[in-house]
Amino acid sequence: MTAGILSRIPLLAKWSGRMIQIKTPHEIELMRASGLVTAGALAAVKAAVRPGVTTGELDAIAEDHIRSQGAVPNFLGYHGFTGTICASINHEIVHGIPDPDRRLAEGDNISIDCGAILQGWHSDSAVTVTVGEPSAEDAALLDVTERSMWAGLAKAIAGGRLTDISAAVERTITAEAHPYGIVDRYGGHGIGTEMHQDPHVLNYGRPGRGPKLVPGLTLAIEPMVTVGDPATVELDDGWTVITKDGSRAAHFEHTVAITPEGPWVLTAEDGGVAGLAPFGITPRT
Ligand code: MG
Ligand code: MG
Repeated sequence: MTAGILSRIPLLAKWSGRMIQIKTPHEIELMRASGLVTAGALAAVKAAVRPGVTTGELDAIAEDHIRSQGAVPNFLGYHGFTGTICASINHEIVHGIPDPDRRLAEGDNISIDCGAILQGWHSDSAVTVTVGEPSAEDAALLDVTERSMWAGLAKAIAGGRLTDISAAVERTITAEAHPYGIVDRYGGHGIGTEMHQDPHVLNYGRPGRGPKLVPGLTLAIEPMVTVGDPATVELDDGWTVITKDGSRAAHFEHTVAITPEGPWVLTAEDGGVAGLAPFGITPRT
């Protein structure tokens, strides 16, 4: 056991009194393995999305996949959460609870958020899909939300600052003719040996601020965008976050590692090759 206990204590970088966990290259490889489990679970759930399927059934598909890979779901039991996925439909933004009686219908948008723990390392990713054919309004909402995530991921570059990511997300959304809302009480986060770590990653803000982006920093980038006003309400179930005005919302998320060779999108099957290409960024893969 020459590796010893010390090698398993994550290196911590201090910023503004808060500790940010910096991963070794080996630990990032472990997080990649976890990320691929989450990617596989989301792919399996997406493939099962159709009219009539229940969010409880989708939850079971995700849990089966994660456990089949020797991992465990990180949402299940988190502060008492009862699902492996968060299933948030239409005006629900995030944290919807899977329900064996809740069936998807043609035209619904569902945000599926999922994560896994493999060998102690967390991953976290989300995607929003439309059941059947999206309306033009829904297609545009999903498109801008996903593009804003990739714009943020493209700024996960060593030498930058945390709010370079925030600003890139915001600029992508505000560049649209439609006045989309950016949900501001929720956002991205550090991730590693816990699902939620410092730093918090806002989906808006001026660039060039916050902690320096250094190799070994791993973040979940997750814009939440609304067609209407971004004000939110939490339902009495203690979890589900909805838009106050009832407008539809979308949510996309990936876990990314900052490496000397560029961003490595740990929860994307291709490491981020396709999603980062429009930004002229070649990820580490
Ligand atoms: Mg998530
Ligand atoms: Mg997250």
